[in-house]
Amino acid sequence: MSDHKKPARTISIKPLFERHQKVYPRSVTGLFQRWRWVFAWLTQIVFYGLCWLPWNGRQAVLFDLDARRFYVFDLVLWPQDVIYLAVILVLSALGLFLFTTVAGRVWCGYTCPQTVYTELFLWIEARLEGDRPKRMKLDSGGWNARKLRLKTAKHTAWIALSLWTGFTFVGYFTPIHELAAGVMNLSLSGWESFWIVFYSALTYGNAGFFREQMCKYVCPYAQFQFVMFDPDTLIVAYDETRGEARGARSKKAVPSEQGLGDCVDCGICVQVCPTGIDIRDGLQLECIGCAACIDACDQVMDKMDYPRGLIRYSTENALRDRSTTAEVNRRVLRPRVLVYAAVFFTLLAATGWSLGTRVPLKVDLQRDRAMMGREIEDGLIENSFRMHLINASEHTSNFSLEARGLPGIHVTQADEISVPGASSHTVIFNVRVPPGTTEPGAHPIRFIITDTADPAVTVTEKAKFWVP
Ligand code: SF4
Ligand code: SF4
Repeated sequence: MSDHKKPARTISIKPLFERHQKVYPRSVTGLFQRWRWVFAWLTQIVFYGLCWLPWNGRQAVLFDLDARRFYVFDLVLWPQDVIYLAVILVLSALGLFLFTTVAGRVWCGYTCPQTVYTELFLWIEARLEGDRPKRMKLDSGGWNARKLRLKTAKHTAWIALSLWTGFTFVGYFTPIHELAAGVMNLSLSGWESFWIVFYSALTYGNAGFFREQMCKYVCPYAQFQFVMFDPDTLIVAYDETRGEARGARSKKAVPSEQGLGDCVDCGICVQVCPTGIDIRDGLQLECIGCAACIDACDQVMDKMDYPRGLIRYSTENALRDRSTTAEVNRRVLRPRVLVYAAVFFTLLAATGWSLGTRVPLKVDLQRDRAMMGREIEDGLIENSFRMHLINASEHTSNFSLEARGLPGIHVTQADEISVPGASSHTVIFNVRVPPGTTEPGAHPIRFIITDTADPAVTVTEKAKFWVP
């Protein structure tokens, strides 16, 4: 046997999952960054402020799960109004379809809570620890008194903001003044404490640590949004034709003479990207459409005296055809967009009309199943009913009750029913017809329930009257 040994085979094993590299986005200024802050301010003013707004002597927006009532300004929604919540969800989905098809990931880049809170947390981080190079140096260095002080200050600020966010969120489900009193007196219920801590931890973890990983690996919208894209959808894009070949050069050099395009390969567009990608590699799932790379690249173009827009909002077709802005705008109204818009605005109008003309009275009528119909004194025929009334207005209403449909039919009790605002009330009542006026069998009748102070608030309920 030969003792010649075969060379050992080298097997390279590639990890299934890439190790996470922390992203240190560099601060950026510019038009789109200003717009991002405008949206951050608007959304946060609404979120933190709306729960404190009084309305009709209560909180303007309150989802009171205990009482099973939702208050949205003048609207009081009951479990019976669940259809409106379903419609709002459908409208939100359709709106997202429509805006994604036209303008790509504008929701992700400007208003998504994940993006906005990451931006706020990054702002705190940059104020305390400095911009990208300083943060990278701080994290790679050893622990010392300065690092401990900066990290403690940052996490304290993050936790304070997270707790305020968790408290505000729960304040939409428990009256916020009661919640605030509970916090001050340390008398919160177990559930209230749990949900405040839960949402605070969610905010702290998502905006402080997971950041772009939520968009990459968790958000379902990020995964399926490309289905809604077409070649005329607005995207943040690098103009490869103009930019390549990329390379460093002196400001005075003429790029074409050196065989170069306009990209000076400074890498600043990568450094400002909150998801750490290089937009020059083309459209990627990780791109949240924040346009930070547009602002950064425009500044580089200004310094080089090149025209702005090497990275810009554009469309695949526009980049390929070198289209003008007017041509891009003309392609906005394409069949897919028109269909989404027609469905969205029709449903929106129908919902608005339905809410605007909604009668603030709901009635649930049931007959007394134990007794179909009976003959009482003087030969009168009597049927019994149970009626549940919900007064969806915010003031006490008196309702009249009238029966129609048979000769001489009348209600013997409960011909006027008082129901306090945003409450319900159940009445049991009898209905009678005179003897000899109606054949035996089941006869259709109607009950008319009317607000005595506002006859426009009327509900008609159908029923059957049994004659033995
Ligand atoms: S910022 Fe502009 S010039 Fe600099 S690398 Fe990115 S695309 Fe090229
Ligand atoms: S590539 Fe540009 S637009 Fe996309 S996430 Fe990065 S910075 Fe934002």
